[in-house]
Amino acid sequence: MKTIIEPFRIKVVEPLRMTTVAEREEILSAARLNVFGVRARDVLIDLLTDSGTGAMSSEQWAAIMRADESYAGADSFYRFHEKVKAITGFEHILPTHQGRASERILFELVGGPGKVVPNNNHFDTTRANVERSGAEAVDLVIDEARDPKNRHPFKGNMDIAKLRGLIDRVGAEHIPLCMVTVTNNSGGGQPVSLENLRHVKEVCREHGIPMFLDACRFAENACFIKKREPGLQNESCRAIARKMFDLADGATISAKKDGLVNIGGLLLLRDHKLNLDARNNLILTEGFPTYGGLAGRDLEALAQGLDEVLDEHYLEYRLRSVEYLGERLIEHGVPILEPPGGHAIYIDAGQFCPHIPAQQFPAQAVVVGLYRLAGIRSVEIGSVMFGGTGRKVDLELVRLAIPRRVYTQSHMDFVIEAIAELFARRDSLRGLRIVEEPETLRHFTAKFEELSA
Ligand SMILES: *Cc1c(COP(=O)(O)O)cnc(C)c1O
Repeated sequence: MKTIIEPFRIKVVEPLRMTTVAEREEILSAARLNVFGVRARDVLIDLLTDSGTGAMSSEQWAAIMRADESYAGADSFYRFHEKVKAITGFEHILPTHQGRASERILFELVGGPGKVVPNNNHFDTTRANVERSGAEAVDLVIDEARDPKNRHPFKGNMDIAKLRGLIDRVGAEHIPLCMVTVTNNSGGGQPVSLENLRHVKEVCREHGIPMFLDACRFAENACFIKKREPGLQNESCRAIARKMFDLADGATISAKKDGLVNIGGLLLLRDHKLNLDARNNLILTEGFPTYGGLAGRDLEALAQGLDEVLDEHYLEYRLRSVEYLGERLIEHGVPILEPPGGHAIYIDAGQFCPHIPAQQFPAQAVVVGLYRLAGIRSVEIGSVMFGGTGRKVDLELVRLAIPRRVYTQSHMDFVIEAIAELFARRDSLRGLRIVEEPETLRHFTAKFEELSA
């Protein structure tokens, strides 16, 4: 097999700043062992998130210069609208400043006390917006998703029996819509099959429930379908993406992921009345409908980004580069969630350092250890993030999210070497305790202390 190369060359470079272990030791203690408190200039390779951290293309920068910043009816809006309509088939397209703004508008309109919103797995902001409206957010992903070693090809699928069970229990009239997140971010970036989307849609149609996509990573999901779902190998990712959108009655999208831009969001709707209400909410809280929460130049960059993200070579490279990282880590014996997802690799820290109990935050210990060793920033998704919320923590995970078009294969090789080395000396990792924490979302600002060995 030939190496799948980065399908671009580099025109603008941004130097990386090297630091020594001694410097990082000081930086860590100033940040109280919380990498959210580390300045980006002190990070060598930043895998904190793939959201808004991608590199734009020369065509996107050129489009930015062409942008029309008129308040109403700007050309940039019409170019953007035409592009989004061509890809998704939606007529009602509202630009927002990012994904959570689309979610807020949607759930302010359809949520409320007594309502229940199912999803395969709600992303944090989606859950927060559902709950803020007074509604209940329910996760219905298939059971295979809970087993880190289960290599089900579509581990993001919704469990159809659980969906039927929920509808029977609470009644369709209490379910304003059913969401499906593609790919399933909270479940490890795992894809949802077209077959599963069709089944969800069928059940929803039977009960008169609209089906919505949380389509932040729609292109990565489409590429997984092309690779894995029988009968779809000869379709383009663009055509598969369209099949996904054709099933949906609406979609919320953060353009900071597969939009290939640094800021932006979309709310797509079919229902005329809901669109009018959403437009009014948009005008009140984000901006006039021909710019929403964005500048004309953002709309231009987004329109171009949506085209580029559906390029077959780009998607092939994207999924392969994440898979490459995952495969090499597995070869080194590093326990990860399998199979690799579309945008990130998740280290199973409970297995990585079994000598550190959950109450001593094993995933945070790995995050701190990796920064100390190599200047690589990752993020804890485990007892630090969820432990204070009363939510059950199944797995102690360290997420390595890969920004789009930013790092090369040698950067990934360096990450692999660093993690392999950390794994070899994992016995030296120490547990932590929280010395100070805020009331909510403690992972962003909590302060830690390492326990003595
Ligand atoms: C990022 C993300 C969101 C929220 O989008 P923002 O642009 O960060 O507000 C919602 N759902 C999923 C699945 C996401 O990955």
